[in-house]
Amino acid sequence: MKRRDFIKTPLIVAGATMLGKVGMVSGLSGVAHAADIAFTPQTNEGTHMEHTLPPLPYAQDALAPHISQETIEYHYGKHHNTYVVNLNNLIKGTEFEAMSLEDIILKAPAGGIYNNAAQVWNHTFFWNGMKPNGGGAPSGPLAKAITEKWGSFEEFQKAFQAAAAGNFGSGWTWLVKKADGSVDIVNTGAAGNPITSGDKPLLCVDVWEHAYYIDYRNQRVKFLEAFANNLINWDFAGGNFTG
Ligand code: MN
Repeated sequence: MKRRDFIKTPLIVAGATMLGKVGMVSGLSGVAHAADIAFTPQTNEGTHMEHTLPPLPYAQDALAPHISQETIEYHYGKHHNTYVVNLNNLIKGTEFEAMSLEDIILKAPAGGIYNNAAQVWNHTFFWNGMKPNGGGAPSGPLAKAITEKWGSFEEFQKAFQAAAAGNFGSGWTWLVKKADGSVDIVNTGAAGNPITSGDKPLLCVDVWEHAYYIDYRNQRVKFLEAFANNLINWDFAGGNFTG
């Protein structure tokens, strides 16, 4: 057995059976599926906190044809999981070993520990911001905040699509709530996360090529259209806004 497989196997088992870490992700506590998950943090060997791959809130083929099962198998099953494996390896014996995911993101310097922690958080948030038969428009206080900022939901959509299409290279495009209660669009590169700037994430889209290359090849805009029209879970974003 290769070393990589040896490391990976117990984590996959842990991810499938002991799902405590999802509770550490800010903004997910209001999601219906999260209520079924034990929130007890994973611990073993004293202060070491084992981070696990949180479960998807839907089946791996549930977002097809907009995001295929094959994309989910790679993006969730391999990319997201690898960030979890890397994070656990990197924090061993460091001051970050006993910290929650959010504390690591807020306290780690630029580098591998930050990158892998943020990528674990960002992907979990991304999965929860989508649902089968999603899309459409928000309602309630978030809809009002969006209209106040951009004039209409349609203008917000144009601005969000333009920001995500123009986010150069690999990164993330976010809808955030600012400290003053208003909303804004933020682009981050690589493993950027708005909580490091004091903003509250409401929704995000992954614009790394691995998010869309299997289904859309180089056409990021087609992926963004599918995200907006068929996938966004506005209840999730609205819950983050008011929660
Ligand atoms: Mn990704």
